[in-house]
Amino acid sequence: MELDLFREYGHRFVDWIADYYQNIESYPVLSQVGPGDIRRQLPLSPPDEGEDMERIFDDFKKIILPGVTHWQHPSFFAYFPANSSVPSLLGEMLTAALGAQCMVWQTSPSGTELEEVVTGWLRQMIGLPEGFVGVIQDTASTATLCALICARERSTDFSVNRYGFTGGEKPKRLAVYSSEHAHSSIEKGAKIAGFGREQVRLIPVDEKLRLVPEELEKSIQRDLASGITPCCVVAALGTTSSMAVDPLRPIGELCKKHGLWFHVDAAMAGSAAVLPEFRFIMDGVEYADSFVFNPHKWLFTNFDCSAYFCRDAGQLVNTFSITPEYLKTDVDMRVKNLRDWGIPLGRRFRALKLWFVLRFFGVKGIQDKLREHIRLAEEFAGWVQQDERFELVTPVSMNLVCFRYNPGKKKLSEGELERVNKALLDELNAGGGMYLTHTKLGGKYTLRMCIGQTSTGRKQVEEAWKRIRSAKLEA
Ligand SMILES: *Cc1c(COP(=O)(O)O)cnc(C)c1O
Repeated sequence: MELDLFREYGHRFVDWIADYYQNIESYPVLSQVGPGDIRRQLPLSPPDEGEDMERIFDDFKKIILPGVTHWQHPSFFAYFPANSSVPSLLGEMLTAALGAQCMVWQTSPSGTELEEVVTGWLRQMIGLPEGFVGVIQDTASTATLCALICARERSTDFSVNRYGFTGGEKPKRLAVYSSEHAHSSIEKGAKIAGFGREQVRLIPVDEKLRLVPEELEKSIQRDLASGITPCCVVAALGTTSSMAVDPLRPIGELCKKHGLWFHVDAAMAGSAAVLPEFRFIMDGVEYADSFVFNPHKWLFTNFDCSAYFCRDAGQLVNTFSITPEYLKTDVDMRVKNLRDWGIPLGRRFRALKLWFVLRFFGVKGIQDKLREHIRLAEEFAGWVQQDERFELVTPVSMNLVCFRYNPGKKKLSEGELERVNKALLDELNAGGGMYLTHTKLGGKYTLRMCIGQTSTGRKQVEEAWKRIRSAKLEA
């Protein structure tokens, strides 16, 4: 290894990164390049001869950086946060340095055992009952796919794994249920796992955009009557559009009554359960078979790190385990081999950065940060309500404010409102000072202000509101 080079550039990169964070507000949040702008500056073929590190680093700054959207910018309010932190970065650096493959216990015992410990810590932090065991997956999408495959196998006595969907003695059609506001990863997972999009039921929601349990029951009954086997319900703890919280208890009771797998998708809102005053969102979680939340969204741990919890690890292992000769080890009966706990064989040592984050901030430090984000969201929502030209589209939920420009006196149609609000969004994002995204709620074009970046404070939220109010609001 070129260790001298590593020492030199390692130190310079750390300095560059510290400067980057210090000056991050001088970059436009949303990358301002157009399609093809980056590719056009890069050679079509790889270099024959090795190049100088200085030139590569220069090109990173000159060519690559302008094509980056700055997710760690404190005025990033789009989609959901993917917040990082200093302890996370330092932990990630060590993970990259070790370059360990944590596929089986023997290939890095610490990889497996630290993952057991930190997912156990997370379980306690969010109030999941004892008996749930955790494993780190790359994303919530993968975790939900794992849940759907486990549900499929439990419903069919592991016959799909064995024969495929149509090869068994009694081929079944299996249905999956979620609210019409649930995340797209459920439909994607249902397609990949072989349920078929036609067997995904999108259940209506109430005025707060929460799944209506009575509608779920009706849908289950309809499937039973037509010979389709209800298999799995995915509840959303914090929908992506509006952070709506499906009522876990009545949904869980229905799952129990009909013998359905109950998966809870708490990708972002799981973090809120770290706060005692938001623990109520977990009411009924004891009915769940599986649960996922993303420390890589709103828990200061850099992407990727998704925590998947399941009630019955045996179910998971029986669904995914394949042990070819070359993967057998002498200790297999005494340890966990996490390759059997998910889809990929190879696994990154993700537990390390999470361990750094949890130890460095402590539960109290994390609670303080989450509370501040939620307080800022409430303050922002208050400003929206006080300005008669704006309105909240739904009540503020945790760290998300759904709002829009709508001067009631002007009586704009939905079409006009969409046009004006889209123009507002485009103007704000093109300015580079902040980044917001939109959704549609009950047909209404809605702006989403999601507050969760590690370094976001009152200053940035106040500036955002100023920018929104002083935008050119024609119509
Ligand atoms: C972000 C999000 C997902 C997808 O998470 P990935 O980790 O990117 O797959 C799924 N569900 C909800 C509710 C989300 O907010």
